Amino acid sequence: MIASSIRLGKIAGIEIGVNYSLLLIAALVTYQLYAFELPQRAPGFSESSYLVYGVFGALLFFASILWHELAHSLMARFYKIRVRRIVLFFLGGVAEIEQEPRKAHQEFWIAILGPISSVVLGGLFLGAGSLIGGATVMAEVFFWLGLINILLAIFNMIPGFPLDGGRVLRAAIWWISGSYLRATRWASYIGQGFAYFLILSGIVSLFVNTLLIGSALWLLILGVFLLNAAKGHLQSAHVRVGLSGISLGELVRNRMPVDASWPLPYAIDMMAVGSGGVASAAPVVRNGQLVGVLALETLQVLPRLQWGGTRVENVMVPIDRVRAVEAQRDLYEALQDEDLRQQPYLLITDDRRPIGFLSQRDIMNFAERRLRST
Ligand SMILES: [Zn+2]
Repeated sequence: MIASSIRLGKIAGIEIGVNYSLLLIAALVTYQLYAFELPQRAPGFSESSYLVYGVFGALLFFASILWHELAHSLMARFYKIRVRRIVLFFLGGVAEIEQEPRKAHQEFWIAILGPISSVVLGGLFLGAGSLIGGATVMAEVFFWLGLINILLAIFNMIPGFPLDGGRVLRAAIWWISGSYLRATRWASYIGQGFAYFLILSGIVSLFVNTLLIGSALWLLILGVFLLNAAKGHLQSAHVRVGLSGISLGELVRNRMPVDASWPLPYAIDMMAVGSGGVASAAPVVRNGQLVGVLALETLQVLPRLQWGGTRVENVMVPIDRVRAVEAQRDLYEALQDEDLRQQPYLLITDDRRPIGFLSQRDIMNFAERRLRST
């Protein structure tokens, strides 16, 4: 995840953020336009007009990336998949989509809409350029933007993760074969292959011409970034497949409540009896009403010698500080939900009736055990 350093606001309810690394690129793009592109394309104009249109072009360049990410985001929203935010950074943009699409065709359309929207925007810029016409600086900025957007679409369609082309490829194999894991494996391997190719090109171009150090570094950074992403996607696909079809309710071990008035050592004994091995958390009741959770983790701050004189109610976490989740909720989905992940404990309910608690550690332990055994 890329840190969003500056918040620009919201578009269609989606937060737009910019990472500081983008400012460096903005300066580079402006300089490229001001010093090379525009004077070459439209010679004979003043320095200041190259500079003004350089800044203008750089701004529209980032607006183009934003437009591309918005296309992905709005398509995701169409499928009721939440988009947390869009972050622009030095390698482009990322739309942080809350969860992976459930169906192949959803992933296909979410992925392909980015490049399509870039081609459309590129066409509009080229059209604007020819409407303005002549070898003016303004027309040339639009021609440059048109070209850049089309190149952006082509680059994104390279069939390797995490580029759009990789997603399109995965969706296609997934659609045809029905196997999400196999599709991800193929898309990941091709993505890794492409990343190694970039890294190698970077190294070779360093040896061929040391003046190319800028573009060589660029290739290396991009290659390493793509390599990590391609590997990461395969890993998360394994997690998804390994954990799918399990509900949170299946993880709840201790359903036996302890009483708020019980002495702590007695309550802990009862937790051990009730679950065959001490459960990490148990519901606390008073007069039959659920009032809190007794969590072993919170006892670590309490010296063992004081346990004897302590009652459950003195150390429990009150129920209003615990988030309730239905037992049918899918484990994999819960792991992806950032709000849930920030809760130390979850109250698991069945038809709104509390059946037990899960600590974040319970969930992680279970997931790890499960993934090791698959
Ligand atoms: Zn894209």
